[in-house]
Parts: sequence; C-alpha cells; structure tokens
Amino acid sequence: MNRTKMPIILRAHHLLCFLGFKGAGYSKEFVENFERVYKSVYLENAPITIVSFPDEICRCCPNLAATECRFEGKVKMYDEKVVELLKLYGLSDLEDVLPSEAYNVLKKVLPQQLESICRTCEWFTLGFCRESFYRKDLWKNG
Ligand code: SF4
Ligand code: SF4
Repeated sequence: MNRTKMPIILRAHHLLCFLGFKGAGYSKEFVENFERVYKSVYLENAPITIVSFPDEICRCCPNLAATECRFEGKVKMYDEKVVELLKLYGLSDLEDVLPSEAYNVLKKVLPQQLESICRTCEWFTLGFCRESFYRKDLWKNG
C-alpha cells in the first residue's frame, strides 16, 4: 500500500493492550511513550506494520534488555497467536495496514480466544483487559 507516512512498528499483541489501557505501566517513561503510540495508533488510526519482535512501545520499557524483552518467549507467543487470528479471520498482509483494518478483523474473534492468549500476563488479573475484550465498541472508527 502506498502511504506517505512511515508505518509504526507494532508488536501484534499490543493491539490487544490498547483496548484495556487505563494509564498504568512499568514506569513513567513507559506510560508517556505508550500514551503517545496509543494516541497515534488507536485513536488516530496511523498506519502500522504488525510484527513479533520489540517495537515502538518496547523502546521505552524497562523490561527491554538489549534487543529482546525479558519475557520474549512469552510475549512472542502472544504475538504469534494474534497474528494467527488476524490471518485466520481475513488480514493476510501485516505490512503498512491501518489499525482499523486490524480491529475490524479482531472484532470477529471470540473474547474467550483473546482471553486465552492473555491469561499468563501479569496485567490480566486486574480485569481491565478481559473486560475490554467483551466491549462492543472495540474500535471507534471500525
Ligand atoms: S493481558 Fe497483558 S498482553 Fe493481554 S492485553 Fe492486557 S496487558 Fe496486553
Ligand atoms: S514487557 Fe516486553 S513486550 Fe511488553 S512493552 Fe515491555 S519490552 Fe515490550
């Protein structure tokens, strides 16, 4: 797709993290950066390239050690499961896509399928993410 704006590199599972975001995070710098990316991607629908490696959000995370997340094995598995669902439900090209296209696909996924991806995440027990998976208005522009 030809767009003038460079796509934002985004880990696939961060599409889910945006849904239940309540301003909490690992550090002040992390939250400020997360809010910036959240605004561009989730609220303003800036183009993204969906990946399974550290992204624009990880860049300011205290858990990023050198080139990998401290929990890389676990989070990569989240990414791969989200990518699998995106492809299964109709989004084959993950490069330079609009977030609204990705969320339109994720809307077709059962909340229980999303829960099963996130169950081992430390934030899951707080309930915000789980609740967001059941919201009907997952994507405002979708
Ligand atoms: S449970 Fe964790 S991985 Fe899942 S959406 Fe929430 S913060 Fe993201
Ligand atoms: S915990 Fe890992 S995957 Fe999540 S934002 Fe931090 S570095 Fe990225």
